[in-house]
Amino acid sequence: MPTPNANAKKKAAKPSPKPGKGEGGIRVSSAEFAAGAARGDQVPPSKTFEDAPEIAFAGRSNVGKSSLLNMMLARKGLARTSNTPGCTRQINFFEVGLAKAAAPASDKGEGETRAAELPARLVFVDLPGYGYAKVSKSEATAWKQLLEGYLHERPTLRAVVIMVDVRRGLEQEEEDLVEFLAERPSLRVIIAATKIDKLARSAQKPALARLSKGPDGERLEVVATSAETGAGREALWTRILDACRVD
Ligand code: GDP
Repeated sequence: MPTPNANAKKKAAKPSPKPGKGEGGIRVSSAEFAAGAARGDQVPPSKTFEDAPEIAFAGRSNVGKSSLLNMMLARKGLARTSNTPGCTRQINFFEVGLAKAAAPASDKGEGETRAAELPARLVFVDLPGYGYAKVSKSEATAWKQLLEGYLHERPTLRAVVIMVDVRRGLEQEEEDLVEFLAERPSLRVIIAATKIDKLARSAQKPALARLSKGPDGERLEVVATSAETGAGREALWTRILDACRVD
């Protein structure tokens, strides 16, 4: 006797041409600015967020960081550009609530297992632009200490997403950051290639291949994204959630 779900099963097996909001079965139920830290002593302790896993986002000014964060969170104007010269630069913490998107009935068993593995919430951390050219030496040193202290010592930090304009590729600052992060091997490093829509299809593959070569010849994990088209949202979420999993 066919089960009532037989048809639904067939339907669910087909990859959807338009994966809805493209969240890979994940729905962002809430996203709120929680705190900003301009100095080390302003960084909220992990326990403020009940030790929720943290994902940091780094990228030079104008790389498309705010746009990508807003795309990931499906919110408009939440992560505002904080890189403008003259603005107080700070590390911004956003609390992100996750809900399992309604799964088709036939998917329920698997969906429930996957949902159980997911954190109910996590923290997105917007790191200020890490170019020091336009600030005084003492300011630059203070920034470096704040960022490096956070990146090396934050116990709940699971992954760092380094955003790189796909047309520019890795520059010295990004390479320095990759090398710095290699000192903490448990941290996952993900390169988000931004503005992929700006490249012709034929130019995308070679540009992404170039990005995947790290400063020491190591292979980097690269995800192509576009805040313009929504491309890469699901792929980036999948990697982020994978980094949050505790083995
Ligand atoms: P931020 O300074 O890194 O936060 O960068 P913004 O998110 O403010 O983006 C800088 C500029 O790039 C803005 O004019 C955005 O509209 C544009 N931009 C951001 N992401 C994309 C993208 O994926 N595609 C295109 N074509 N433009 C983008």
